[in-house]
Amino acid sequence: MNSPYMGKFKVTQAYKGDSVHDGLDLEGIDSREIHATIGGTIHYAGWENSADHSQGFGQYVCIKGTDGKFYYFGHLSEIKVKSGQSVNITDVIGIEGSTGRSTGSHCHYCIRPNFCKGNSFNVSEISGIPNCEGGTYDDGFRIGSAISGKRTKSVSLTIDGVTYQGILSEK
Ligand SMILES: [Zn+2]
Repeated sequence: MNSPYMGKFKVTQAYKGDSVHDGLDLEGIDSREIHATIGGTIHYAGWENSADHSQGFGQYVCIKGTDGKFYYFGHLSEIKVKSGQSVNITDVIGIEGSTGRSTGSHCHYCIRPNFCKGNSFNVSEISGIPNCEGGTYDDGFRIGSAISGKRTKSVSLTIDGVTYQGILSEK
């Protein structure tokens, strides 16, 4: 699994469980493009509440992954996909922003078993992104090139049946 970013990003708020913070808040450093972290179908792409853009996730994308889990990317400034379309891992799905209940540009990344609030998986364990506020990381995935760095977590990415072993490096 890749991170939602290509290039460096930082963790601004950790996963703290459903009742406190059910995802990781991430902020892009090299780019604010948000990439699909798994292949699947766009289950929803739009406002959480079109009548109140300050509510909840604001503009968000939810991918129903090929593993059956629901991957949420919240607070986007732009959406680049439409509900019902299929996506491949690493496709750009939107641009980081600060829509919804947000005080600065970031992406709320969370993974749930169903398309509803109330329970979540530990996104840090599934994604490999350390649950460490202030940490800066790079998943190393680039088309046609590799980066080096201190290996913190092993991650993998499968595109068209080819699996790439990646690194999630402290930067
Ligand atoms: Zn958040």
